[in-house]
Amino acid sequence: MPVAALSLGGNQRDVKDAFRHALRRLAATRGVMVRAQSTLWRTPPWGKTDQPDFLNMATLVETILSPRELLDLCQTIERERGRSRSVRWGPRTLDIDIVAFGDEVIGEADLVVPHPRATERAFVLAPLAEIAGELPINGRRVDEWLARVDLAGARSIGPLDA
Ligand code: ATP
Ligand code: CA
Ligand code: CA
Repeated sequence: MPVAALSLGGNQRDVKDAFRHALRRLAATRGVMVRAQSTLWRTPPWGKTDQPDFLNMATLVETILSPRELLDLCQTIERERGRSRSVRWGPRTLDIDIVAFGDEVIGEADLVVPHPRATERAFVLAPLAEIAGELPINGRRVDEWLARVDLAGARSIGPLDA
């Protein structure tokens, strides 16, 4: 079964609770098995910097869902936590991105895998490297990509449930 790497983020309302909800919902979905989860990271905002710090984490799921079905599930879970899309890269309660899906390469209008901006984002790579440092993305391993980005301000604050 393919393994997908997901990146979770948020900076509005109770983000830890949103992450717990997301992990519970993924685990409770038939055909989705949560295989690993990173620690929680606190990271400075990216792209649009005049907003609060984010919390981020990564998870690996093994799934029989198609990439599109997994995207639909992620977006359903985002909506359950009140996600609305207003400002690009702006504040949000919960964002779930598909960083990679097995070794699939997808280039559709609304689904690009591997996620095109993941390899330049410390807030995606640092949590993911904890659980999948050797995962290849666009020709390099996650830990190799991580060594090339600016980690300033990003720090692990321990496990989600601690
Ligand atoms: P970014 O994609 O730069 O992280 P964002 O997460 O804030 O920005 P969203 O508003 O959450 O962007 O998503 C915009 C659209 O991106 C979604 O509606 C979805 O169709 C599309 N999309 C394309 N590829 C992916 C992917 N790999 N994972 C999640 N969404 C994706
Ligand atoms: Ca995102
Ligand atoms: Ca997104």
